[in-house]
Amino acid sequence: MKYAIGVDIGGTKVAIAIVDETGKIKMHSVISTDITISAIKMVHKINREIERVLKESGISMNQLIGIGVGAPGPLDSKKGVVTSPPNLKGWIDVPVSRLVEQHFSMPVLLENDANAAALAEKLTGAAQENDDFVYITVSTGIGAGIVTEGKLLRGLKGNAGDIGHTVVDPSFGRCTCGQYGCLEWIASGTAIARQGSVIMDKDITSKDVFNLYLSGNVEIVHLIERVFRVLGVACVSVINTFDTEKIVIGGGVSKVGAPLFQSIQTYVNNFALNETGRKTEIVPAKLEQKSGVIGAAALCFNR
Ligand code: ADP
Ligand code: ZN
Repeated sequence: MKYAIGVDIGGTKVAIAIVDETGKIKMHSVISTDITISAIKMVHKINREIERVLKESGISMNQLIGIGVGAPGPLDSKKGVVTSPPNLKGWIDVPVSRLVEQHFSMPVLLENDANAAALAEKLTGAAQENDDFVYITVSTGIGAGIVTEGKLLRGLKGNAGDIGHTVVDPSFGRCTCGQYGCLEWIASGTAIARQGSVIMDKDITSKDVFNLYLSGNVEIVHLIERVFRVLGVACVSVINTFDTEKIVIGGGVSKVGAPLFQSIQTYVNNFALNETGRKTEIVPAKLEQKSGVIGAAALCFNR
């Protein structure tokens, strides 16, 4: 059996796993992302943890085909450099791949985290049968991993799929990126909590907002219906642009489940441009928490 190491670098934690070629996790470990130390020191810390996990697993270096790293964008996947992610403060132009490669003398691949999660859903999740699908994460922000003809669509530097900053309704005010009415500004977990807090006149989480929605609070129902509508709008744009067969939705907000999926499905059934597009299935992600490390490892198997 061949194995790859998957590393998922996030704003609060770094997950590391040894994954076999079927997508099964053999060993898993999590360390916290220490933002009080430099990014380079943090990568050294990750290297040491990879070493520890490898040693404990008993897997030898010649059973390993590589190390895959998923990290928040923007990044340069071809150069293996994390450039300036808003969710990893201080990680400016960090040559992650080189720093890991030098330590282990084996190939290291870097991709943005949504792309990695898409590959994980392909390898062992909700898109195993699909060569044309898009994975969308609705979480703190919104991002996507696009697979066309069985291959990840990377773009120039690996930042393709950043659909969170697509304008869907300018009347919603100014997004953190400077544009008016971005998808992420309206429909991310952060956005839902922000708008719900204004309505309720106190700080509430997006989970609280959904509880109020389920209990029938009129203003909140109105808010959530708008959120679902713009998610539908985004899915239709994705379907019309990429001719996708399936859209897989993950991330914290997708845990709301049926109301979200039914609402988006109905919008798609009505408004995708062509008949096949209108039949695009909108399904929940299967892997969730583990998709980051499995996807990062899948970069090595998918080469
Ligand atoms: P991350 O963005 O760090 O990858 P998550 O995918 O868990 O993390 O997304 C976090 C966002 O999802 C937060 O805005 C959180 O409030 C929201 N969220 C998490 N669980 C739920 C839930 N059950 N219902 C609604 N929103 C949720
Ligand atoms: Zn924006």
